[in-house]
Amino acid sequence: METGTIGIISAMPVEVASMLGKASISRTDRIGGTDFHVGRLCGADVVIAQAGIGKALSAAGAAAMLCRYPVSSVIFTGIAGGVGDRTRVLDVVIATDLVQHDYGFQEQNGFRWSPEFSGTDGYSVCDGALVRLACEAAAETVGPGHVFTGRIATGDQFVASEAYVKYLQEQFDAIACEMEGAAVAAVCEQYGVPFVVIRCMSDKADGNATESFEKMAGTAADNSCRIVMGMLAGMR
Ligand code: SAH
Repeated sequence: METGTIGIISAMPVEVASMLGKASISRTDRIGGTDFHVGRLCGADVVIAQAGIGKALSAAGAAAMLCRYPVSSVIFTGIAGGVGDRTRVLDVVIATDLVQHDYGFQEQNGFRWSPEFSGTDGYSVCDGALVRLACEAAAETVGPGHVFTGRIATGDQFVASEAYVKYLQEQFDAIACEMEGAAVAAVCEQYGVPFVVIRCMSDKADGNATESFEKMAGTAADNSCRIVMGMLAGMR
């Protein structure tokens, strides 16, 4: 494994399954309960970790990865709920930036998003070159009409609510929501490592989200894996 290793992180086993099936893994290290698979995939040195669902486990996985391996870029791959009318189930969102939508004050009148504890404006910006590579690979994989770039909203909640998904669109101008991206992004920023988040839509984060997720998660997760593999092949 050399400097220039690409770190690949996901939340759930289904989100790395097809990559692990294709990779040649030379060793697996277990750190803090997460397996880090070190090897080669599509001509690139990689370390692949399925870190768990939610902000805490994904941030812990990212920190362990960046502490332990000579990772030059991080790609998060997985599935998400689509926000707003632009995306449909199985469309792909490449994040341009990410925000933790559940970070702030709980007041008498309810929740007020407020990034100030973090000492930042609350938005973590993805690397432009990685976004371009991801868009190219995504367009080849699912067709250019199914690829969108924009903001992803992250929180420790599975969103299955018309009202909340509308709030995410109006408050943040988000086009997808999930449970890990902004947490991994914040850790990558701390380490000064460029990152991108790729998500294929399993649902629309609405009243039908749970059923849609159950039906589409496998196909959506696999689409995202294929995009990552296309990116790796393009980096050679
Ligand atoms: N029923 C599943 C739920 C997993 S949580 C289970 O019990 O295992 C959903 C996962 O998919 C998270 O990793 C999250 O990032 C992503 N996701 C997909 N659709 C989502 C949505 N509508 N809201 C939030 N996260 C979503």
